[in-house]
Amino acid sequence: MAISSFTLSEIIGIVGSGHVLTGPEEMVCYSYDASRIQVCPACVAFPGSAREVSEILVLANREGLPVHPRGAGSGMVGASVPSEEGLVLVMTRFQRIIEIDPDEMIAVVQPGVITGTLQRTVLDYGLMYPPDPASASFSTLGGNVAMGSGGLRAVKYGVTRDYVLGLEVALPTGPIIRTGTRTAKGVVGYDLTRLMVGSEGTLGVFTEIVLRLVPAPEARRTILALFPSLDQATDSVRALLKQRVAPSALELMDRSAIDVVENYLHLNLDRNAEALLLIEVDGLDCAVTHEAEVIASVCQGNGASDIEVAASATESERLWRGRRAISPALGRIKPHKINEDITVPRTGITRLIRSVREVARRHDLIIVCFGHAGDGNIHTNIMLDRKNADELSRAEQAVEEIFRIVLELGGTLSGEHGVGIAKSPYMLWEVGAGGYEAMWRIKQALDPRNILNPGKMFSPSRAFFHPA
Ligand SMILES: Cc1cc2nc3c(=O)[nH]c(=O)nc-3n(C[C@H](O)[C@H](O)[C@H](O)COP(=O)(O)OP(=O)(O)OC[C@H]3O[C@@H](n4cnc5c(N)ncnc54)[C@H](O)[C@@H]3O)c2cc1C
Repeated sequence: MAISSFTLSEIIGIVGSGHVLTGPEEMVCYSYDASRIQVCPACVAFPGSAREVSEILVLANREGLPVHPRGAGSGMVGASVPSEEGLVLVMTRFQRIIEIDPDEMIAVVQPGVITGTLQRTVLDYGLMYPPDPASASFSTLGGNVAMGSGGLRAVKYGVTRDYVLGLEVALPTGPIIRTGTRTAKGVVGYDLTRLMVGSEGTLGVFTEIVLRLVPAPEARRTILALFPSLDQATDSVRALLKQRVAPSALELMDRSAIDVVENYLHLNLDRNAEALLLIEVDGLDCAVTHEAEVIASVCQGNGASDIEVAASATESERLWRGRRAISPALGRIKPHKINEDITVPRTGITRLIRSVREVARRHDLIIVCFGHAGDGNIHTNIMLDRKNADELSRAEQAVEEIFRIVLELGGTLSGEHGVGIAKSPYMLWEVGAGGYEAMWRIKQALDPRNILNPGKMFSPSRAFFHPA
């Protein structure tokens, strides 16, 4: 859809003519993320300062122009996918690591910095930025904060939310505010920082982020254990955490995932095993050696049929190969997948995986389960060919059934990927009418004209019929 030439000239006046795109081919490049949802916008702008972002938002309010913030476009739920009449606000010019303060253990960054770049930079100071989404080498910190992203290390270190101390934010109506502190503590007023984290670009545009860092661990050990039964693996997960061991990664692959990887890489993993655990500990060298022994003995006590402890970084890399190969291996089975990042209490993992198998059997689908067992966050991959209408309909039915199971188990529909467009029809299921209403009122208070990333989280039909 076209944007009026007057509005376009104003946008160019704000960000400069070299920072605006309108060509149809260019619109295609900013029309999608990793979710397969695609809508071409009317215009794309690359602001270079907080002031420019603010001016765009003031203009958008006056014109009723939808504005969609975007980082690297790697989101899994369509949270950065624009609307047809909208403007995509690409934040990749905000590339600076402004400050690293090793004494206070904080980093001040612009939102377009790639997560992996910050991780590598702070290592030179003996520090670590723990959140590590698998997309760290290409996703932006602004996107991570907006989605509240998680990763492998969440079981020990937590998720992005736990590292954001403060933000500079351009609010939907234009004012630029600062939230939070640069200090380890701070309880003055409402916690607007936490409100913004995970807001999926609907409550404000981040222009600066203050992040907490921690000392980088001296050493790591990796342990791989195979189990004849799923219960033995999940019992081990719980037993490990009771042994006062805090793994920095605690990953599970069920039989379907082991099979898929074996077919792809031929690593000689035992196909009779019903589950595999990949466990990593980090910290002082002497401590991780002891922790690795405790882990091996807990797994043995719980019936592991095979245990390997990596003695070197190279061996550790070998043990991780299978886990890292799951995504490419899945690509060999079917052209498409629906990857749900459902999360249940750890005690519910076995029931979840067995129930998902039952759903797969009933709908004649291949569903591969693997993921962050330490967090109860099991990636459930429904394999399909979207061109096959019958298979697509069975897969969509399976998703709904799996969501119901997750909620019955006391879990959440998304541990890390967020709601976006893809899960917006289901948000009400989890948060309930009261929670939905409260969230919608916050959105309306900050964004009365609903110009900032409309159509995300709140299902359009439900938001529309909601009382004002
Ligand atoms: C191969 C692959 C692996 C992945 N692995 C993980 C994983 O392990 N864990 C995980 O949690 N996610 C994972 N993801 C999902 C995705 O990478 C994350 O959601 C990531 O945080 C998105 O960052 P981005 O820069 O690509 O943001 P985008 O996708 O561009 O945007 C995501 C959201 O952030 C908003 N946004 C972006 N910048 C700003 C800003 N400056 N201010 C306000 N809002 C903003 C957008 O409006 C949108 O709502 C993976 C994705 C892929 C493709």
